[in-house]
Amino acid sequence: MWLIRLYVRVLGQLGSDLKLGAVLALANIGLAIAAFAEPILFGRIIDRLTGGGAGPAGPVTFTSLLPLLAAWVGFGLFTIGAGVLVALHADRLSHRRRLVTMATYFEHVLELPLAFHTSTHSGRVLKVMLEGSNGMAWLWLGFFRDHFSALVSLGVLLPLTLLLNWRLGLLLVVLVLVFTVLTALVLRKTETLQGRVETYHSRLAEQASDALGNVPVIQSFTRVKQETGELRSTISQLLAAQTPVLSWWALASIATRASATLTVTSIFLLGTWLNLNGKATIGDVVMFMSIATMLIGRLEQVVGFVNQLFMQGPKIREFYEILDTSPTVHDRPGAQNIDRFAGAVEFQNVSFSYDGKRTAIADVSFSAEAGQTVALVGATGSGKSTTLGLLHRAFDPQSGAIRIDGIDIRDVCLASLRRNIGVVFQEPMLFARSIRENLQVGRPDATEAEMREALDRAQASEFILRQAEGLDSVIGERGRSLSGGERQRLSIARALLKNPPILILDEATSALDAATERKLQVALEEVMKGRTTFVIAHRLATIRNADRILVFEASRIVESGTFEELVAKNGRFAELARAQFMVGAGGEPPLAEPAGPALPAASLA
Ligand code: ADP
Ligand code: MG
Repeated sequence: MWLIRLYVRVLGQLGSDLKLGAVLALANIGLAIAAFAEPILFGRIIDRLTGGGAGPAGPVTFTSLLPLLAAWVGFGLFTIGAGVLVALHADRLSHRRRLVTMATYFEHVLELPLAFHTSTHSGRVLKVMLEGSNGMAWLWLGFFRDHFSALVSLGVLLPLTLLLNWRLGLLLVVLVLVFTVLTALVLRKTETLQGRVETYHSRLAEQASDALGNVPVIQSFTRVKQETGELRSTISQLLAAQTPVLSWWALASIATRASATLTVTSIFLLGTWLNLNGKATIGDVVMFMSIATMLIGRLEQVVGFVNQLFMQGPKIREFYEILDTSPTVHDRPGAQNIDRFAGAVEFQNVSFSYDGKRTAIADVSFSAEAGQTVALVGATGSGKSTTLGLLHRAFDPQSGAIRIDGIDIRDVCLASLRRNIGVVFQEPMLFARSIRENLQVGRPDATEAEMREALDRAQASEFILRQAEGLDSVIGERGRSLSGGERQRLSIARALLKNPPILILDEATSALDAATERKLQVALEEVMKGRTTFVIAHRLATIRNADRILVFEASRIVESGTFEELVAKNGRFAELARAQFMVGAGGEPPLAEPAGPALPAASLA
């Protein structure tokens, strides 16, 4: 049964709290024994008072009852003490572990490759984190508060009732069997349905967070009704799957309740008959009545536990599914820590596919000396971003090798590799924190002066001065309170603060207007000095001065060389240049068909 395996794993997850867990489990065993001892002692005392059963001969005096009474009081006191211990620590333990588990999951998810994050919605990732850890907390709490002692009572102590009076004991055993069969039946009936319910829960989280991330689109395209309608439709599908499950469990609880009542009645009837025939004392009857009541309570707890495990199971399974996804990019044993690379980069026959079917880049080879600037051009989707993603190991290539300063990047520890490479992404990707905190992502110990200098160089000072609280202004989710160009300049400043020997600019200036871009261009050129820089850009000015241009087409490099060489060749690059670069550079329309064989370089400026 996967539920049992899951449960064992959840219990094993206690980690550093395992010792406390063991103490609580022992206390639970004690509580189960005490709960069992009380009715037995009670029955014995009644027998002594009514003169039935076997006891020391002679008149019943208070002194002769004292050992029994003392034992009874002793168990009572123990129940109180252990109860306090369990109540106090079970709650703390489960809350603590819930948060620890959540943090473990969070760290794990952040380390998962981008491929995981492209295919799994962040809304679902978040839902699984919250609900999975919550579900586990319930199981820990239930286990240490009630479930374990209930299981002990049933599993170990129930057979003992057979020794006390086998006829009455047998009735209790039958009761337990009926409960077990009923529960198993309901489990079988509802298992797949509950799995489906969880899929709908996940879809709900995805839909909601997807919509919340796109509120401007929803409002401007007047889609509020449609989006709400779609959410409601998922809700009704969820309910349609959940309702039969609930009905089955309601049926189970009614049936267990009925069989419990029947059992108590039968014990009383059978007990009376046995007593009249001299086969049971009054104490026996009283004792079995209270044992039966207690066991029924326990049985209901166990059924409740199975129900809870069943409801939380799919959530926890999803949690573990994500937790078990291993990061495909990780440190090799013995990976080196490189403090600072010089920055010579070499790609050798690198091929990569995101899904194992469609190639994203094929057989890409090139090299760049330290300090050089390499421009990557080509139509969108031709593999430029993917190529540079491989350089900072956003993913690893399926074949080929990438070396920096002659060292295969898979032999370098990931943290030091990424410390050496600064990336300005196409989307600025800012945090909903203050400007200062966003800059500190680049360098945690950056001083105010360094931040201001980086902002200056990224042409970002002027709009930050306009912010009411300057560096401490909070810029909204994904930096939404800034304009596209402002966001991009801030993300450039962030990369500058990192001051890496290798810099990747993936369409970093594409969100800027021509005037700002020209200003920024000067800054960027200065920034590129002394670092190996890879630029993906569609604008001529950026590409002109590159030491080398790589022309991508359909996942491959089809041409490479300097600007002059490529223009002289009048091949793919010249064609691209005519179609693309003129637009952004000066605002003129693209050139018409070229008059001569070569594109006159001057006309491009
Ligand atoms: P470029 O940067 O040149 O526009 P990309 O390197 O982003 O192109 O994309 C190359 C190919 O890989 C495209 O066909 C694109 O659809 C695909 N691709 C890009 N990113 C992903 C991803 N995260 N998952 C799956 N396919 C992707
Ligand atoms: Mg791209």
